[in-house]
Amino acid sequence: MNVHEYQAKELLAKFGVGIPAGIAALTVEEAVAAAKQLPGPLYVVKAQIHAGGRGKGKFKELPADAKGGVRLAKSIEEVETFAQEMLGNTLVTVQTGEAGKQVNRLYVTDGVDIAKEYYLSLVVDRGTGRVALIVSTEGGMDIEEVAHATPEKITTITIDPAQGFMPHHGRAVGFALGLSGDLNKQAAKIAQQLYTAFVALDCDMLEINPLVETKDGKLLVLDTKMSFDSNSLYRHPDVVALRDETEEDPAEIEASKYDLAYIKLDGDIGCMVNGAGLAMATMDIIKLNGMFPANFLDVGGGANKEKVTAAFKLILSDPAVKGILVNIFGGIMKCDIIAEGIVAAAKEVNLQVPLVVRLEGTNVQAGKDILANSGLPIVPANDLGDAAKKIVAEVQKVA
Ligand code: GDP
Ligand code: MG
Repeated sequence: MNVHEYQAKELLAKFGVGIPAGIAALTVEEAVAAAKQLPGPLYVVKAQIHAGGRGKGKFKELPADAKGGVRLAKSIEEVETFAQEMLGNTLVTVQTGEAGKQVNRLYVTDGVDIAKEYYLSLVVDRGTGRVALIVSTEGGMDIEEVAHATPEKITTITIDPAQGFMPHHGRAVGFALGLSGDLNKQAAKIAQQLYTAFVALDCDMLEINPLVETKDGKLLVLDTKMSFDSNSLYRHPDVVALRDETEEDPAEIEASKYDLAYIKLDGDIGCMVNGAGLAMATMDIIKLNGMFPANFLDVGGGANKEKVTAAFKLILSDPAVKGILVNIFGGIMKCDIIAEGIVAAAKEVNLQVPLVVRLEGTNVQAGKDILANSGLPIVPANDLGDAAKKIVAEVQKVA
């Protein structure tokens, strides 16, 4: 789950991290009122969307030479103009894709006099089983670009979770950023605060780009992106409350209501599978047979009729789907129960595309009989390879 910049900053502030003062706004009037509460004379009006690269982004509705989604305003009047230009319009950045994202919220912040910009992020590094702290002197830039062109400018420090953040980690951060004296101490402190927040909030990723040194010698978090481990959300109701569903894919929201793990992909074959590993294998074998999966969908262990129906509806809500491959292993849930669910769901949604079903496991014969006697044009498959071949053949037959 992701949150907006202003929400992430409010969370970080609770851990003592320095951020510029700012107020979120949903309307032009609110943006003006927010600016009036800030000291001035410089303000920043920032589009709040779940994507980075806003500063260099472009609004679809504005002339090509208009500025992007992060603008420095020198007066309250400018704040008003910028808010008018941004709210309701569609911002396209390197991270939004061509469709862009509609800007429905702004964050009006106190403008900072920047001396230098740095980069700092924390991610879970599955390779080492540790939290990796990534720092660079090249702040405010696209970090992938920096990693590609000048990898020597990026330093990675890993932190053993059993040991936690130690003073030497802090010194390593200050050193990597080329800081000395008080700034070095501030960098060590901010890195420790960010690590504490990262662990306490069960983050997947916490990126500060840029972390800035102000002209009066302070380190502040100027921009941040934060995402959370979905499996930990049950213990963070305060984080769940920050969810902005307008930023999420509607199909993925629907899926989460039924506890289905669904991710939309670009291909033509809808997949319904139980178990993430089996779902991955199913996607691979579809590709091996020359077509691409339209989605990743794991219905989980308890695949009952309601879940199967919801999953069918989800898959069919995607106009790109030209055929469906169901690949379910009946372990805890028996194959005959699953087959009943598939038949009921296929009837309920009035299925119009080819459906290939591969069942395996407990009561598999009873399950196959139910499919065969359903009166529906369901194509049975014997194993995974057979299923993938059949769905590709069925779809190509229709095309
Ligand atoms: P992003 O484009 O989505 O990454 O948005 P950022 O919040 O990182 O802003 C982009 C750039 O705008 C930053 O790298 C800064 O160079 C500039 N910027 C943002 N806030 C301020 C500010 O308060 N003062 C100044 N001078 N520049 C700012
Ligand atoms: Mg940024």
